[in-house]
Amino acid sequence: MTIVDARTPDPKKFLKGATGDWEIVIGMEVHAQVTSEAKLFSGASTEFGKDPNSNVSLVDAAMPGMLPVINEECVRQAIRTGLGLKAEINLKSVFDRKNYFYPDLPQGYQISQFKQPIVGEGKIILDMPEERVEIGVERLHLEQDAGKSMHDQHPSMSFVDLNRSGVALMEIVSKPDLRSADEAKAYLTKLRIILRYLGTCDGNMDQGSMRADVNVSVRRPGGEFGTRCEIKNVNSIRFVGQAIEYEARRQMAILEDGGSIDQETRLFDAVKGETRSMRSKEEAHDYRYFPDPDLLPLEFTQAYVDDLAKDLPELPDEKKARFVKDWGLTPYDADILVAEKISADFFELVAKGRDAKLSANWVINELFGRLNKEGLDVTTSPVSADQLGAIIDLIKNGTISGKIAKDLFEIVWTEGGDPAKIVEERGMVQVTDLGAIEAIVDSIIAANPEKAEQAKEKPGLLGWFVGQVMKESKGKANPQAVNDLLKQKIGLE
Ligand code: ADP
Ligand code: MG
Repeated sequence: MTIVDARTPDPKKFLKGATGDWEIVIGMEVHAQVTSEAKLFSGASTEFGKDPNSNVSLVDAAMPGMLPVINEECVRQAIRTGLGLKAEINLKSVFDRKNYFYPDLPQGYQISQFKQPIVGEGKIILDMPEERVEIGVERLHLEQDAGKSMHDQHPSMSFVDLNRSGVALMEIVSKPDLRSADEAKAYLTKLRIILRYLGTCDGNMDQGSMRADVNVSVRRPGGEFGTRCEIKNVNSIRFVGQAIEYEARRQMAILEDGGSIDQETRLFDAVKGETRSMRSKEEAHDYRYFPDPDLLPLEFTQAYVDDLAKDLPELPDEKKARFVKDWGLTPYDADILVAEKISADFFELVAKGRDAKLSANWVINELFGRLNKEGLDVTTSPVSADQLGAIIDLIKNGTISGKIAKDLFEIVWTEGGDPAKIVEERGMVQVTDLGAIEAIVDSIIAANPEKAEQAKEKPGLLGWFVGQVMKESKGKANPQAVNDLLKQKIGLE
């Protein structure tokens, strides 16, 4: 591929070496398992966690004379993913055989797409803390997954599990546009969010449904691209970051010592936090790609693509822009809410017809904070959108204070129930009776005459008085009224 440097070097991202600055260059190849009940070329199930070799058809086991038949659902999902990546969809693509021997590959070749992939160039937008960057996607192609060798089941034998053999993968290849470990992590995170919105891959890295090969090189800022190393099969976003940090420093040290980088495939050792050589380019395979004679070129019409485009859900970038524009949220809050479609939907249920900022606050800080702590998510939340909305209504119409609202949230969380009823039954209604509040204010000032005197000079002390009054009223006093009365009585106005 011809590489065009899409980025301007940014000194904030440089690594400081003994002989000057270095810039990291990263490109990623992500394998994402297509959400589909059956495999790419057979009807065998893709269900995770089944007994070894229970999801294997004669095609997956490569019995002689078996013929692959393309699964339309996988094609549909690949096109939808391409559309989600704003990519070019190729109406004609070709399946090739990638030939190599391995015990977990009974066919002796993997069916993949080489020269003519189903999806061409696209892009992924990253909203980094200080800038918005666009990362190029080179291509997306469909291919089969391999089986799994198991070396730890028997003292003298190895076993093979073919459950994954033939499962459909999308390989999504980025351009070498990433310039830091943080950007690489953000890229993977964003890609996973998009795949989940589309429902084309579940993105579960711990189950192997999404894996990243991370290509890393270093160069003098803005200079020629350096020789890269490819770190294979990294299976968590955190590890991607660690692997890049380690690998960039390793390469930098070699170059600063006057050495050169061998293009090689490396493994990330998560325990030691380092990368290790697996095989060098000299040992690299010649895969002898050629079009699979068992399969016709894959062709579909633009009308088919247009139909799929019409039914695409609203994607995270568009949703975020809408949340900022229509709901008036900060980009930061919008980012948190759109990170998962179910979270965004939940927020919109709560915010509908209400103060959007207050709703975002309660959804993000109180609800998500609590769900996180308990290892739950919005689908298993003990507090529903209706209940949270009712709590917000009670704050908004002055029935309860923000502080009481937190107690109310706690009650709804543990006991359930109608928030308005709970407030009524348990006498949690906010005291707006000025006479009652005034009595408390007077008693607190009388008990602390020196502090009250000081507060005239140091208005910051007012907060302390507010706290005392709120405490005395068990959080039920209307905070605005408390503030006003205190200012007036202490003489701050
Ligand atoms: P191959 O065909 O050998 O896999 P590609 O040219 O398709 O090589 O690139 C594979 C991945 O490596 C892509 O994600 C690409 O962005 C990335 N890449 C290419 N050159 C570099 C480089 N100099 N440094 C870092 N990554 C690179
Ligand atoms: Mg490659």
